Amino acid sequence: MEAESEDNRAASALFRALGMGRRPPRAEVLRNSRFPGMHRGEWIVLSLWVPVTLVTVARSCLAPWLDGAAAWIVALPLAWILVHALPFVLRARTPGGQWRAWLAAAALWAWFHRDAGGATAVVAWSWLAVLALEIAALLWLAFLRTMAWSGTGGVAWRVFLLTASHLAALALAFRHGAVAGLAAGAGIAVFCCLAVLRPRARWLGPLVTRMESDGVLVTIDDGPDPQDTPRLLDLLDRHGVKAVFFMIGNKVAANPELAREVLRRGHEIGNHTLSHPQASFWCAGPWRTRREILDCQKIIHEATGYTPGWFRAPVGHRNLFTHPLAQAAGLRVMAWNRRGYDAVEKDASQAIRRILTDVGPGDILLLHEATPIAAEVLEGTLVGLRQAGLLRSR
Ligand SMILES: [Zn+2]
Repeated sequence: MEAESEDNRAASALFRALGMGRRPPRAEVLRNSRFPGMHRGEWIVLSLWVPVTLVTVARSCLAPWLDGAAAWIVALPLAWILVHALPFVLRARTPGGQWRAWLAAAALWAWFHRDAGGATAVVAWSWLAVLALEIAALLWLAFLRTMAWSGTGGVAWRVFLLTASHLAALALAFRHGAVAGLAAGAGIAVFCCLAVLRPRARWLGPLVTRMESDGVLVTIDDGPDPQDTPRLLDLLDRHGVKAVFFMIGNKVAANPELAREVLRRGHEIGNHTLSHPQASFWCAGPWRTRREILDCQKIIHEATGYTPGWFRAPVGHRNLFTHPLAQAAGLRVMAWNRRGYDAVEKDASQAIRRILTDVGPGDILLLHEATPIAAEVLEGTLVGLRQAGLLRSR
């Protein structure tokens, strides 16, 4: 079972950041073009905007001798020559190097022509905007890299960032008034809420939302359950499907034989915290988060002899400290990309419809047990997957 690699191969930081978590980033990278190995967006910027820029440059060079329409007309063939000559000057071995070479050349030109006025200024400012976005994307990607730091170092870095950003907001309030300080504070709060409460956000650490596979991965949360687990295991056997059961530590302690049976039938067990504190895990501090993860890990290991390799947060809400602590425990964090809200939905057919809409290879499906419709949802989902030709046991 291989998780999809997180990286995509866009040449620029800008398009790498834009393409994150999107599928399939690699398919957007062009093979046969003037700029092989580049993202489609980069290709658009370079193959449309570079010629426009070169026409503008040529026209402004001709301005002392020609003006009006004549300058534009002569500028066209000049730009055409430049388009073909410049790649020899701005030659780079990698698509990333090529992108940086073009961007640096264009931005350098733009800096000296930003006050030119007219069309030249518009083109110049557009390049300065691309440069600013590229720098912002670089900083963002560097921030995300620090979010992959695991263990105590990762936790300490987060505490530092949180403290530093709040102190900065406070300093802003003293310097520019309460409104500015409150706005900065609200900005920090919105960022944290979006990062924590969106189950598929990758802002706080590496997250698996898809698999590198032709089939789909069925994951079943919130067990083991004396009623549901045996029925679900029979259904999975009948369809020849192996699933990942994300189990709650306390429930494993109460039903260790069910956890062992899940493994005996060839499925995997994931860590779904000790007590599934779904209302408060999102704001839990590092000590409680660590206890929820490690105690669950310990109970599963004691009951089955198996050490889970996957972690999933309750309702997908990973708090600020989840990622470094899960990683330090040898766990990779898994979310999903298809769900039917079967834990709250009463109508199984609605849940199945939501899960199966646009389902495709590599998808991770989220199902639940210990619900009134668990067996019905799993059965309907497996039948639908079989019809779609997506069932393949791992
Ligand atoms: Zn759950």
